[in-house]
Amino acid sequence: MTVAQADRLWQWHGLTTNQIGRISEAAADGDRCVWCDQVPGAEPIRLFDEAPWLACCRCYMVQLAGMLTWFDWHGHIEGCGTCMSGGRCLVARGRRTLHQQAAALSGETVAYCAPCGEPVTDQDLVVAVVWDTGTRLIPAYAHVLCLALHALRIPS
Ligand SMILES: [Zn+2]
Ligand SMILES: [Zn+2]
Ligand SMILES: [Zn+2]
Repeated sequence: MTVAQADRLWQWHGLTTNQIGRISEAAADGDRCVWCDQVPGAEPIRLFDEAPWLACCRCYMVQLAGMLTWFDWHGHIEGCGTCMSGGRCLVARGRRTLHQQAAALSGETVAYCAPCGEPVTDQDLVVAVVWDTGTRLIPAYAHVLCLALHALRIPS
């Protein structure tokens, strides 16, 4: 399964998907922000009920913006005939741009195509996909062509 419901992904992994395996011991214990690894200030944001993971306000807002703009982009694609048939769509382009601006704030300046692993350039036709890494589902990007080739390889 490559594409799953985005809202389910939100439920399962929330904003911290990209930090799994990356956070420090202090952050895992709730002493530091899981993103910037600094002491998270006076009003840290508690990310889970089950784990003591905290975020500082700035990181949280940045990550939230990145995630929400990704969902906007992804949500558009699912409901758009042009996007679903692999065409160039101005709305998708606009949402991608918004997402890229938000993602850049968190230091994510280069995006990679999940199927081929290559960086995506501005000229590439790219879509937002929920990607199955084999162990978990992550919000990701894919070249339209790579995604089509990948889908052909997976027996349904
Ligand atoms: Zn932080
Ligand atoms: Zn579209
Ligand atoms: Zn690719």
